[in-house]
Amino acid sequence: MKTPFRHRRRMLLSYLAESKVHCLLITSPANWFYLTGFTGDAGALVVSRKGTTLITDGRFTVQGHEETSGVRILQQKESLFESLGQFLRDSQSNRVGFDPSQLTVGQLASLRRAAGRRLKWVPAPGVVEALRMRKDALEVAQMRKAAILAGEIVQFAIGLLRPGIRESEVAGEIEYQMRKRGASGPAFETIVAFGERAALPHARPTGKRLRKNELVVLDLGVILGHYCSDITRTVFVGQAPKRIRTWYKAVLEAQTAAIAAVKSGVACGDVDAAARRILAGYRLDHLFVHSTGHGLGLEVHEAPRIARGQTRRLEPGNVVTIEPGVYSEGIGGIRIEDDVAVHADRTEVLTRAPRDLIEI
Ligand code: ZN
Ligand code: ZN
Repeated sequence: MKTPFRHRRRMLLSYLAESKVHCLLITSPANWFYLTGFTGDAGALVVSRKGTTLITDGRFTVQGHEETSGVRILQQKESLFESLGQFLRDSQSNRVGFDPSQLTVGQLASLRRAAGRRLKWVPAPGVVEALRMRKDALEVAQMRKAAILAGEIVQFAIGLLRPGIRESEVAGEIEYQMRKRGASGPAFETIVAFGERAALPHARPTGKRLRKNELVVLDLGVILGHYCSDITRTVFVGQAPKRIRTWYKAVLEAQTAAIAAVKSGVACGDVDAAARRILAGYRLDHLFVHSTGHGLGLEVHEAPRIARGQTRRLEPGNVVTIEPGVYSEGIGGIRIEDDVAVHADRTEVLTRAPRDLIEI
């Protein structure tokens, strides 16, 4: 079977040629999976013109051979960073690129000690992430499946809501359904927030029981075929009062405006501004306490960020969430989130679940 990994490594080599580093050190599992297909969660990858080497411990060497092709697998001897440092010392690479956000001060110190003084350590932030932002057609197809599954599960979860049920029960059912329907697990800790707890954008499920006249925020995502999805729906238990209806209408309008703004060539900050402008029209912008969205892919939060002032322009292959919300202490919160893919000539909403206010 033809895999995309060699092509991705070739793309990376052209970066190395431009940036005058001899090799790039990769210490994030999502990044080494993207470049080799290796799904183990311990090790480090070194990519250079001379070849690609995965250094990992004895638990993962067989798996490394099975999952990759054209990659040298080395078993670490002592600690990972000592083995890695020695490998780099012997590899005749003088300038080693690394991502400062993915290496601790202690790890870098061990590397420097083991690698010797000759090596130059060159900060090279976000190099693989920049490649990962531009998904190919197969990646977008996989993300479409993950998004559709998340939509089905959110609708299943809405069907479970009745007064008396606990947040933790709903979260448990959601995560059981994810695996039952083929996902390898949740993309992040499922959020089920009832009533006042819905005012916390990242509420953890508790033993709280659902009562009448409460808002419910459900925010969940699956990992399906390595790719993440992320969807939020907000439900009212009973007939929503006027204020809640107005807030919901405002959030839905803000989300619709931001989705309409998502286009190849548009600055990410302008998509964020499209949502904020609508909420400001309702005088609710002060209750929108986070950014409008984030990139999505092998990880649930990746580049690009859809936030205030972001000048990066959207490109075909970007997949982002659009998730405006309003939150008010003592009342609760409303958020609507969908996943959107940018194509050259159009924008595709990948998640498919009704977005109108649901009253149960
Ligand atoms: Zn979410
Ligand atoms: Zn999200």
